[in-house]
Amino acid sequence: MTKQELVKKEKYLKLNDDGDYAIDYDGELEIIDFHTHISNALPLKIIDPNKKGRKLEYPTLPSVDKTDLSVPYWTKLDPNEKNKGLMSVIKFSLNGYKIFNDMVKGGTYDNCFKSQSENMIKKNVVLALSTKKSDRSMEALRVANEHPDKLVAFCSVHPHDPEMKEKIKKYKELGAKGLKLKVTDMELKGDFKPLIDLLKACYEVNFNVLLHTGSLTHIKRRNTSDLMWKLLKSTRVEVFGELLKELPKDFKFVFGHSGIAEYKLVAEYLKKHPGSYAELSCQSADSIKYLIDEVGYERLIFGSDWPALPQALTLSRVLLATENNKVAREHILCKNAERLLR
Ligand SMILES: [Zn+2]
Repeated sequence: MTKQELVKKEKYLKLNDDGDYAIDYDGELEIIDFHTHISNALPLKIIDPNKKGRKLEYPTLPSVDKTDLSVPYWTKLDPNEKNKGLMSVIKFSLNGYKIFNDMVKGGTYDNCFKSQSENMIKKNVVLALSTKKSDRSMEALRVANEHPDKLVAFCSVHPHDPEMKEKIKKYKELGAKGLKLKVTDMELKGDFKPLIDLLKACYEVNFNVLLHTGSLTHIKRRNTSDLMWKLLKSTRVEVFGELLKELPKDFKFVFGHSGIAEYKLVAEYLKKHPGSYAELSCQSADSIKYLIDEVGYERLIFGSDWPALPQALTLSRVLLATENNKVAREHILCKNAERLLR
């Protein structure tokens, strides 16, 4: 199948002049994208977001022959996939590096604003992504400062940062609306105290916290090595969901990607923790419908993970899932995010 053939079959999708997915919708929509990135607020080298003519690679998007939009992650799964031996660990790490590299290259203002206008998106929440060694929060704040009508900034502070508390207060004062983190249990060496302290510091300044949550669950234990298994499980939903027990009930925690393949578990945590939300990037129309049925529409938020993924794909999934529910659509696309960002 070609991309052309795919969009012909899919309601709400078309291709733009670059051959990338764009939304196909006649009416008006109000949309905030709660999960995006930009060149200079990512790890690796800093690239000036003013650069022009950079190609968008969408590094997390599967090729057309491997695309299956009916499942989260939109990728045809092979239940017998094998990830044994050192090579698979190396491949996994190189792939992670390539994803960031492509995001840094493609995540420029030029590409960002083009995608916003093609997809009727009024604002992107730009999530900084910091590591222990490199804090990208000031860069995210800078881009939001340069384009306050189009971008909102989340800071990112690593739990092992010695100035964690001071920084969170400072970034709040500088205009950050929340904090984003991608961290693994391996990186924390199983000691969650620093992360809990960080979440509590965020609660004190009334920050929303969005964490990358979820992993691919189709790979079987017997088909992996010990190390690969640990890597695959290192961001699973329960690692972070269990920490919510340590925090007040009204703590505003957002499950990034709705846990990818673990969206049903995310629904269970949302039921237990009334302050928590699920952000929908890479989910399918069916999984979004499932979440609406289980937890209602007032704690689900549209996010795309642009430029790792096109904004149009998750957006078209939300439109499909809410075809007969205009109120749910308005909340998921905009109202819930607006409430959190107020
Ligand atoms: Zn992301």
